[in-house]
Amino acid sequence: MGRVVLLLIIGFLVYLALRGFLRTQTRGGEPATRDVKGEDMVACARCGVHLPRSEARSEAGAYICQDNPRCRAP
Ligand SMILES: [Zn+2]
Repeated sequence: MGRVVLLLIIGFLVYLALRGFLRTQTRGGEPATRDVKGEDMVACARCGVHLPRSEARSEAGAYICQDNPRCRAP
């Protein structure tokens, strides 16, 4: 009986490993801009706050807060 449980656990772990592997494979071709873990942090040129690049807008080669109402030039 213990062997059956062990096989079930091993099968489940293999399933999880394969699922994670397939997920990384399908994401491989896409740009990782929305991936929180791999996203670059940029500093706002106006207020100096660090934010993910996807939440900043580019203005004259500098990154500016996209929706931060308190972001104003000092
Ligand atoms: Zn700002």
